[in-house]
Amino acid sequence: MRTLRMTNKPLASSIPQGSICSPASSGEDRAVERVPSADMKLRLHFVVDPIGWLCISAVFGIWLYNSFFVPKLVLLPHYHEGHIPWAIVFCYYIASALCFAALFRASTADPGRLPQDPHIPHSEREHWELCNKCNLMRPKRSHHCSRCGHCVRRMDHHCPWINNCVGEDNHWLFLQLCFYAQVLSLFTLVLDFCQYYYFQPLTQLDQEKFTTRHELALLRGSALMGVVMFGGMTSLFYTQMTGILSDTTTIEKMSQFSNEILNSKKKWQRALAEVCGTRWKLLWLLPLRMRQPLQSGHQHYRSHV
Ligand SMILES: [Zn+2]
Ligand SMILES: [Zn+2]
Repeated sequence: MRTLRMTNKPLASSIPQGSICSPASSGEDRAVERVPSADMKLRLHFVVDPIGWLCISAVFGIWLYNSFFVPKLVLLPHYHEGHIPWAIVFCYYIASALCFAALFRASTADPGRLPQDPHIPHSEREHWELCNKCNLMRPKRSHHCSRCGHCVRRMDHHCPWINNCVGEDNHWLFLQLCFYAQVLSLFTLVLDFCQYYYFQPLTQLDQEKFTTRHELALLRGSALMGVVMFGGMTSLFYTQMTGILSDTTTIEKMSQFSNEILNSKKKWQRALAEVCGTRWKLLWLLPLRMRQPLQSGHQHYRSHV
């Protein structure tokens, strides 16, 4: 597998000399392009993995299905008939847009890839180590992802459903995706339920219009997706939150050194602020922004990742 990064500059002009696949990163796992500096804010990160493409296509298909059919079958007809206010329609589209934005950004954001030649402060050298797979220096809580083919800072796990690693720089986006997917699937389930049991009597006067407009099979499909997504996302969101609040990644939880974990003394505000890169709580919910890492007063370094 390999990753491809796209920047806001033309590809040819943005690749510095000698940046493509140095011997240290050669082999089947390699970066096609290296982003030269941190001043380039807009950059896309694609993992070349057909299985990942399949998974993220399924997620996108579920989002598209519900974002198209729920307004078409439920929201808009009842809005035009005056059964629901415009605010419900507006909120559904907002939830749908935020869910898509979080999915797009989580899957295309750099999860925290280490540079080829990192600057390591002298005082932190004891907290860095050499990766024996890509021969690059990395902080101790980093992990080498075999699907992406590189090391990721504070890697949580590789998620095929977003076709990307979840690491230090996009963990907040993954958390947002779990949250907005929960909101959207719950919203969908409530609307499907209302359609069956509340709106249906309202349209019985016009049965022919009802049967052509309300495709029951489509609604059942939507309800099934809503149940699966809401159950899965709620479980995942809970797992992610407990990991963040205990300052423990999924990889660390699964490791044999699990006795060392669950000892974080951070407050929940501090833990979430560090993940989201800001203390402004409203910004925690906004996917369309750039994350700047907070200056942490203390770091936990573990030798087993
Ligand atoms: Zn590595
Ligand atoms: Zn990965």
